[in-house]
Amino acid sequence: MSNNLFQDTDSILSEERIFPPTPEMVANANITAYMKSKGFEDYEAFYKWSLDNRFEFWDDMAKELHWFEPWQTTFEWTTKPFFKWFVGGKFNIVYNCLDRYMDTPIRHKVAFHWEGDNGDTRSITYEQLYIETNRMAKGLQNIGVQKGDRVAIYMPAVLEQIVAVLAVARLGAVHTVVFGGFAASALRDRIIDAEAKVVITADGNYRGGKLIQLKHIADEAVSETPTIEKVVVFNHQNLDVPMQKGRDIYWHDLLTDVPVDTVVPCEPMDSEDPLYILYTSGSTGKPKGIVHVQAGYAVGTYATTKFVFDIKDDDVYWCTADVGWVTGHSYIIYGPLMNGVTSVLFEGTPSYPKPDRWWGVAERFNVSILYTSPTGIRGLMRFGEEWPAKHDLSHLRLLGSVGEPINPEAWMWYRHNIGHDTLPIMDTWWQTETGSILISPTIIQPLKPGSATRPLPTIEADVVDKNGNSVGLGKGGFLVIRHPWPSLMRTIYKDPARYQTYWDTLPNVYFAGDAATIDNHGYIRVQGRVDDVIKVSGHRLGSMEIESSLVSHPAVAEVAAIGKPDELKGEHVKVFVILKNGIEPSEELAKELKLHVRTTVGALAVPEELEFTPSLPKTRSGKIMRRVIRARELGEPIGDISTLDS
Ligand code: ATP
Ligand code: MG
Repeated sequence: MSNNLFQDTDSILSEERIFPPTPEMVANANITAYMKSKGFEDYEAFYKWSLDNRFEFWDDMAKELHWFEPWQTTFEWTTKPFFKWFVGGKFNIVYNCLDRYMDTPIRHKVAFHWEGDNGDTRSITYEQLYIETNRMAKGLQNIGVQKGDRVAIYMPAVLEQIVAVLAVARLGAVHTVVFGGFAASALRDRIIDAEAKVVITADGNYRGGKLIQLKHIADEAVSETPTIEKVVVFNHQNLDVPMQKGRDIYWHDLLTDVPVDTVVPCEPMDSEDPLYILYTSGSTGKPKGIVHVQAGYAVGTYATTKFVFDIKDDDVYWCTADVGWVTGHSYIIYGPLMNGVTSVLFEGTPSYPKPDRWWGVAERFNVSILYTSPTGIRGLMRFGEEWPAKHDLSHLRLLGSVGEPINPEAWMWYRHNIGHDTLPIMDTWWQTETGSILISPTIIQPLKPGSATRPLPTIEADVVDKNGNSVGLGKGGFLVIRHPWPSLMRTIYKDPARYQTYWDTLPNVYFAGDAATIDNHGYIRVQGRVDDVIKVSGHRLGSMEIESSLVSHPAVAEVAAIGKPDELKGEHVKVFVILKNGIEPSEELAKELKLHVRTTVGALAVPEELEFTPSLPKTRSGKIMRRVIRARELGEPIGDISTLDS
């Protein structure tokens, strides 16, 4: 982190638009029902209660799940900052995703509607998912997978990817899902760090019509990993791939002799046993293996899915992330399945074959809840409003956003074009490390474009200065959380010291690494990573704020802002601008854009340099890698770029 890390950030973006909920939303919300059960009508009063009664809140949530044996102690510090939740309990998250529905009507409900890149569709009920998970668990047992073993999953977004994840967790083994778009070296490094014994992959898949040779890539990775004993290959595309005798086995061969009535009971795990290791996308540096555990993670993702997405029996929920990211783990697989909802799993890309692909998927499956990312929204804004307008999106009732700060104009576009000008948008702030959403509105709160609003119940989020003192309303600083919550990571795999740095940087708080401001309503606006803050003439500006100003200009699709050393100002702003389709770069337009920043946010933020560019370096999860842009611009070493989307 840079030397000037610990100075307050200034907010240059003023946002006064407020969108209150309708009385119906408030009356019918899951969060309202829970608040009422505790005697509250008002979220702020309820939130204050939850800070003093966090263990009661989480006990209530945990009791809605199935336990083989109940926990004895809700929370325990071991050696600070290491801690435990639901101590003494015996639990399996997969039982809560599948088994417990087998004597309820959810058994026959669709768990996932799947749509492939080429338009093929398939649906699977909870019962079918249960059957396939049991069979796969047996298959994995047959090749020696046991409780505690690490299994790498390197697959496309097919239903079998979900089966693989659940089968591994059912056995009490630890999955490490690696995004199916990563290169061999990234897969290799993750397998080596996790010491995985088995890798489950597929022959290959198409994304946006482009073939990805997964098995070839996996072979290359495995040739340099000492621990892999077996490679399981799901035949997705009938590709002719080499199979190494004794090591490689097809998924269907593994299951030929495993009957459909096979039951492999869920391994009763200690609450604190690991569930998975997930390597973060690495937009700030070398990927680290975030360790999440069985019970606390389950309770956190269950409760946040229920309250933030306000899941109801007849909803069709679609999270557009990839299972390879934490959003996919928490909000494609575990949270939705524990809530018994019908979900959509989509293998393709947003604009293939045409820029209305997503809206077509939403229409085909009558999607009622859509959870996506600012990068997805900005990417589709480029093509114009006519693409969503072609589709009947009337089933939608709630929208969500995650991954980066959402620029207010992107928020407005999303609400107008996808949300019929009426739908609430849950701007959810969280991290791989946090396991579940921490700062987000629920459906009952007034919304502000570009603000994740307020912390969820029990979450003591704050914006502080370098000494850890609250900056107070109307100011900016560092986003921190004051007490552990159930789904927080327990450690970094094989690197507990690195875990400790999250709690050591500022006294006694979890430091997220993000800059934020807190407005006069107590609403939090995340400005971006602390490392991406730009220091101009003594003011610290969030990259997001400068970018948001430019994104609000009709010619602009996407922007990245960085700071460059400047003798007079300390740093000056340079922006890289992607224009909307059909708009040509020109000197005049560059002038106009600078003027636009001057009039919308002020002279301080006006970029000294402006460069038009056809693309920006992003992580494979779609986040702008400002670190890479800065290094390229200044001719400095770029650092770890294993997650760069080339
Ligand atoms: P790495 O930590 O390896 O560099 P990463 O931080 O991109 O990668 P994630 O854990 O997927 O990996 O992302 C969490 C970060 O994403 C947050 O710290 C924050 O910077 C950003 N973020 C996520 N959701 C939001 C949101 N709703 N508003 C603003 N920022 C968000
Ligand atoms: Mg991070």
